[in-house]
Amino acid sequence: MAPITDEAGNQRRVLVVGGGPAGSTAAFWLAKAGFDVQVAELSSVAPYGQGIDVTDEAVAVVRGMGVLDTIKANTTGETGFALLDDQAREIGSLGRNPSEAKEKGISPSQEIEIMRGTLTKILVDAAKAQNVQYRYGCTVSSIDQHAGGVTVKLSDSESPEDFTAIIGADGVASQTRKLSFPASANANPFVQTDTYCAYFSMEADRQTRVPYSRLQHADKGRAIWIRPIDAEGKKVSCYFIVTSPNNAKLQDIARPGATQGERKAFLEELYHDMDGVKQEAVRGMHQSTDFYFSRIVQVALPTWHEGRCGLVGDAAYCPSPLSGQGTTLALIGGYMIAGELAANPADPAAAFEEYQRKFQGYVKEEGSIPLGGKAPAIFEPQSRLGLWILRTAFWGITRSGLPQLLENLPSFQSEGPTKKFRLPQYAFA
Ligand SMILES: Cc1cc2nc3c(=O)[nH]c(=O)nc-3n(C[C@H](O)[C@H](O)[C@H](O)COP(=O)(O)OP(=O)(O)OC[C@H]3O[C@@H](n4cnc5c(N)ncnc54)[C@H](O)[C@@H]3O)c2cc1C
Repeated sequence: MAPITDEAGNQRRVLVVGGGPAGSTAAFWLAKAGFDVQVAELSSVAPYGQGIDVTDEAVAVVRGMGVLDTIKANTTGETGFALLDDQAREIGSLGRNPSEAKEKGISPSQEIEIMRGTLTKILVDAAKAQNVQYRYGCTVSSIDQHAGGVTVKLSDSESPEDFTAIIGADGVASQTRKLSFPASANANPFVQTDTYCAYFSMEADRQTRVPYSRLQHADKGRAIWIRPIDAEGKKVSCYFIVTSPNNAKLQDIARPGATQGERKAFLEELYHDMDGVKQEAVRGMHQSTDFYFSRIVQVALPTWHEGRCGLVGDAAYCPSPLSGQGTTLALIGGYMIAGELAANPADPAAAFEEYQRKFQGYVKEEGSIPLGGKAPAIFEPQSRLGLWILRTAFWGITRSGLPQLLENLPSFQSEGPTKKFRLPQYAFA
């Protein structure tokens, strides 16, 4: 596309803060549309993280970027899901074998399961191929909006720089949001949940290597979930997930000042009475170097933009891993914020308003925690009785033929004709 220029004929510049899935997707499409795009990415190490899903219209976004085949070639290969009993014996499974892949629609394993770091690298490479410039170890330290544009100070340079607009794609704790939104918007952007999650990668014991994920519950809202990273199940992601309302100890260990060592010791103690996969998981946790623990939060803002500054992805509407839609919303949002800005480059505020108007209904629908927010309480029961009911229900469902029946309904198919939301088409796409 021809460069997008201002009244003086200069190519318009856009700053994207954060080079994760949302930021790199926005940067790709902005550059493709004709903007000069810089990405300020705080981290200077390779992107890491555990498994994430790409679903729905986000598949069309990455197809448009020309990276769908690369993404498909780099998925974890997870075929499905098995629920385990207290001794780690399988109660039932969905899509356990590749031949049962049809059952995926109602299992937690989606068509595209990929490691966050792998996906981010693919998107960054695509953006760089469009001449997007990445500045690693760099963040924004001041933002000054004025009639002609936005003047920004970046941490890797002494001189202020001018941009037409700035896009905050810097995740849940967005610095861009803090610097450019009014104090009232920043006062409480988070919706806290009662769920806490630790995740890390580890090598699986030889006898437990399978191509599907395995989840074992304990009472008091505890679970351990082990998911393959490679097709052989040799390398796995492990998750300690706890749902516990008003738990002061969990709140304390999730506070920013707690060390990883304290958190690992706390989790070992919290799961001490569990059998089955626990031993393997605790060993892996202590050996891990990519351990991460936090309380699960959502981000909910009345508006996703302030003047020439627009937010995208988790910075604006983090739905949390409990919805399973964070990456899908980030990819679609990245495409749409770029599309609206390209359609109206002289008036970023109006462009960002239009992006929110078109996208917020879908975000509300897809970004909510399933079952009216009750999914964590239902799927992580507190009592042994609750656990028995859950296990019996799952056993019954997996033997009933219902999963295959549901998968054949159009609404369960990943790109079926009944989809509620269609991607807007932009001139650059
Ligand atoms: C390190 C990491 C690991 C993750 N692992 C998982 C996971 O295992 N499972 C899961 O479901 N979700 C994970 N997520 C969240 C998941 O990636 C997002 O929910 C989703 O993909 C939305 O992407 P996003 O680009 O909006 O946000 P994010 O993926 O959070 O990306 C934000 C980017 O902004 C950068 N950044 C943050 N602050 C600044 C700043 N001040 N200046 C410049 N750059 C900044 C971050 O380094 C990151 O690259 C992880 C996020 C991160 C940052």
